[in-house]
Amino acid sequence: MDQNYTYKKRVVHTDTDKELRIGEGKISGVCSVALGLLSLLAVLAYLYPSYLTTTELRQVYDAEQLQRLLKYGMYFSIAFGALTFILNRGRNRHLGSLGIGLTLIAFLLGGYRIPVGPVEPRELSLGVDWLILAFLGSVVIFVLLEKLLPKYKEQVIMRPEWDVDLFYFCFNHLAISAILIFANYHASHFHWAVSAELQSAIQSIPVLIQVALIIICADFVLYWEHRAYHEVKALWPIHAVHHSVEHMDWLAGSRGHFIQVFSERAMVMIPLYLLGASEQALNLYVAFAALQAVLIHSNTAIPFGPLKYIFVTPQFHHWHHSSEKPAIDTNYSAHTVLFDRLFGTYHMPGEHWPAEYGTTKRLPRSVVGQTFYPVTAHLRPRVRPED
Ligand SMILES: [Zn+2]
Ligand SMILES: [Zn+2]
Repeated sequence: MDQNYTYKKRVVHTDTDKELRIGEGKISGVCSVALGLLSLLAVLAYLYPSYLTTTELRQVYDAEQLQRLLKYGMYFSIAFGALTFILNRGRNRHLGSLGIGLTLIAFLLGGYRIPVGPVEPRELSLGVDWLILAFLGSVVIFVLLEKLLPKYKEQVIMRPEWDVDLFYFCFNHLAISAILIFANYHASHFHWAVSAELQSAIQSIPVLIQVALIIICADFVLYWEHRAYHEVKALWPIHAVHHSVEHMDWLAGSRGHFIQVFSERAMVMIPLYLLGASEQALNLYVAFAALQAVLIHSNTAIPFGPLKYIFVTPQFHHWHHSSEKPAIDTNYSAHTVLFDRLFGTYHMPGEHWPAEYGTTKRLPRSVVGQTFYPVTAHLRPRVRPED
């Protein structure tokens, strides 16, 4: 805690225009459009699986079982669309029409009855399946969590720039096979450091200890990679895109320059590749890391108790996103607080949470502006408070 700093409380006002209130048809309209769009994407993935699904993910799910989920998605899209009309609020009817329209196109293209056959594997494909499953899973888990245990209950789901972050969410999931190809290629350069003895020793220890070992090794790499993005001047404009978000929630963590997204996965692949842990341990780590990455950006104040002294929690990572002086360049870790403690970058001022998020000088607000920001940043003053 910085004794010379006056910590303030964050003030959030409810944006009544964007608020989803029960009984107005807006919730059903949004659900109808979302399910209609997801259904259409799913149907396209069933029609062109070798182009639109992920090789690694196909081994985990049963495509025929998921057609039942698609069936319910399509029927619910139509039911929600109809509900929008029944609730009869003129303003939201267009959402109902759009949702039903998208679902009807999905039906015309074959709906949930497209035969599932063997898929010709392609090295590079779009992760439409990964996008749909991750989006459904995230919405169910995290929107519920943010409503039941919110940090800022006045913050609406469609807070400012949610659409920008949804774009990043889609990009990061669709590009999954390109990211994995790049990360594996990068890790393969370290084949000289592979030790068969070490790998078989690691595989012989209990799975949960293997997971703990992966977490610590991955965290070490991610800590220094993240710290470099902050402290190497030339790298900061790339990472500043992730920090440009000013409202934290489950979607906020998706915002990141594609160079950062690719490099982060490539760096973390090195310890995973060298450790050679069992597949079960690796899968558990991937699930843990994916959930934690979303959770720590979420608008939630789950009481973690003593766990907050071990793991990176929303409060810890929210401070990393703060533009307040004592929090600048702190809390770099991704999984545990260990390396921030060890290397002197830990900032957890008791029960205080940040009052402000973002960069002190604003970045462009569009995806295109942010993508070119690493170039344009050199043409204008940098967005660091200490400069
Ligand atoms: Zn950062
Ligand atoms: Zn973050």
